[in-house]
Amino acid sequence: MHSSHETKTYSNFIGGKWSETSGGIIEGRNPANGELVSISARSRPEDVSQAVEEARKTFDSGAWSSKRPAERAKILRGISDIIRRETDALAVLLTLETGKPLDDSKGELLNAANVFEFYASAARHIVGRIPRYGASDVSLVVHEPVGVCGLIVPWNSPISLLSWKLGPALAAGCTVVVKPAVYTSGITMEFVNLLSAIEGLPPGVINAITGPGEPIGSELVKSPDVDKVSFTGSTETGKKIMEMAASNLKKVNLECGGKSADIVFDDANMASALPSAVWSIFRSAGQSCNAGSRLLVQKSIYDKFMQGFKEATAKIRIGNGLDPSTEMGPVVSESQLNRVLGYIRSGQDEGARLTAGGRRLVDGDYSRGFFLQPTVFEGVKREMAVFQEEIFGPVLCVLPFEDEEDAISIANDTRFGLAGDVWSSSLTRIMRVSQGIRTGTLWVNRHLNPGPEVPFGGYKQSGLGRETGMEGLMEFLQTKHISLQLTDSFERVRR
Ligand code: NAD
Repeated sequence: MHSSHETKTYSNFIGGKWSETSGGIIEGRNPANGELVSISARSRPEDVSQAVEEARKTFDSGAWSSKRPAERAKILRGISDIIRRETDALAVLLTLETGKPLDDSKGELLNAANVFEFYASAARHIVGRIPRYGASDVSLVVHEPVGVCGLIVPWNSPISLLSWKLGPALAAGCTVVVKPAVYTSGITMEFVNLLSAIEGLPPGVINAITGPGEPIGSELVKSPDVDKVSFTGSTETGKKIMEMAASNLKKVNLECGGKSADIVFDDANMASALPSAVWSIFRSAGQSCNAGSRLLVQKSIYDKFMQGFKEATAKIRIGNGLDPSTEMGPVVSESQLNRVLGYIRSGQDEGARLTAGGRRLVDGDYSRGFFLQPTVFEGVKREMAVFQEEIFGPVLCVLPFEDEEDAISIANDTRFGLAGDVWSSSLTRIMRVSQGIRTGTLWVNRHLNPGPEVPFGGYKQSGLGRETGMEGLMEFLQTKHISLQLTDSFERVRR
C-alpha cells in the first residue's frame, strides 16, 4: 500500500549547480512503514565551505542585493506560484518523509506560498528615514541586507519554516545556504530543485546542502564568512548555536522549543475550546513547537471537560498520512519514538496518572512504523519532567486551576515562552490573563496565527528575534546611518 512513489536522489545545490559529494548518502524513509523515500547527500565540511563561498561571492557581487525591489518581489511571487502549482506532488513527498496527514502537508505548503507572497510585497516596503536637522545637515537612516545567511531548519514543518527564513532573506537582498534536517532532506531538495528553474534568480543566491547537525550544521554556524544564522530547532541546539556564533559575533535568530499552556476557563465556549485543545496537542503527533502540551482547566468544569476530551481523543484516527481518513500520523523516527516513550515512563515513575494512551501501536500495519497512542497525563505536579520539558510527541499534561492568578502562575512556571491559548468569554479576564502570560504569542479563543503579517517568536528560552511579519524582515536587514554635511566648511558638531 502507498508504495508507488519513485525514489529520487538529490545532491547539494551550490552556485546554481548540482554538486556531488564523496561524503556518502542520507536515506529518507517513511516513518509510517520504513520504505525508502529519497536519497540525499551526506555532505562533508568542505561542501559547506564551497556553498558559503558561492553565497559570499554572489552577495559581494551585488547581483541580488542591488536588484530593484520590484525584481526581488517578482522572484518571490514566482516561488509562491511554483508552490501553488506543485502543491499536490510536494505534499505527497512531505507526507512520505514526515508522516503527517496529506491535508496537513497541503496546508503547510499553502502557508509557505502565502509567506513568500507576503514577502514579495514586503520587499517593496523597505524604506529608511531622514530625521530633520537642517538644510545642510542631512542624515540618512538606511536598511541594508545583513549578507550571507545560514538557514537551519527542523523536520516538523520543513517547508513552511524554511519559507519564514527564505522569504525575508530574499526580500532583504541576502544570499543563503539552506541546511534542512536529515529526515526532510528529500522534500527540501525537491523544493530547491523547483526554485532552481526560476528565471532571473542569479546562481549563488540560494545554495542548499544536506547533512547532519554535527558536523554540517555546526560548520555553517562557525564559518567566518556567514554573517547571520537563522535557526529553528530545539532549545539545546539553539544554545550551542549562540555559543558557536560568538566566534565572529554573527547575528543569530533562534526559534526554539515550547511548552505552551492551553487555558480553559469555565466561561469558555466548550464547543470550540474542546476540539481545539485536542487538535493543538495531537496535530502532527505533538511535533509542533506551538503544541498546547499543557492543558489547564478550571476546577469547576474539570471533570466534564476531561470526559469530553478523552472521548474525542479516543476517536482520533491514527495511520499512514496518505490515507485520507488519517488524522494523526507516526512520529518522525525511531529515536523520537524512544524519546517520547522515555518521557511516558518518566511521567509514570514520577507518579502522574496515565489516563489515556501511553503505548506504541504494534498491531498489523502499525508494526512497520513509529505510531504512538495519543497520551494524557493527569495528576501532574509542576516539578515533574513531563510538565517542565518539551516532549515533542503526542503527550499531554493536564492540570486543574482555581482562578486567574493560579492559571497565570502555572502557565508561567516554565523556562519556555513560545505561545499559548486562552479560552474565555470575558473580555476583561482575557486582557488580564493575556498580559500576565510571558509568551511571544497568545491566541484567544483560537489556535494559530491568522496569516504571515504578524510576528512569531519566543520569550525566555523559546528563542531570540521574530519570524514572519515585518519584524521577520527586519531580522535580515541592518541599519546604517549616513550623515552628510552639505557645505564645504568644517563645522564642529556640538551636542
Ligand atoms: P534540532 O535542534 O535537533 O535540529 C534542528 C536543526 O538544527 C536540524 O537541521 C539539525 O540538523 C540542526 N542541528 C542540530 N545540531 C546542530 C548543531 N550542533 N549545529 C548546527 N545545526 C545543528 O531540532 P529538531 O529535532 O529537528 O526539531 C524539533 C525542535 O524544533 C523542537 O524543539 C521544536 O520546538 C523546535 N521548533 C521550534 C519552532 C519555532 O518556531 N520556535 C518551530 C518548529 C520547531
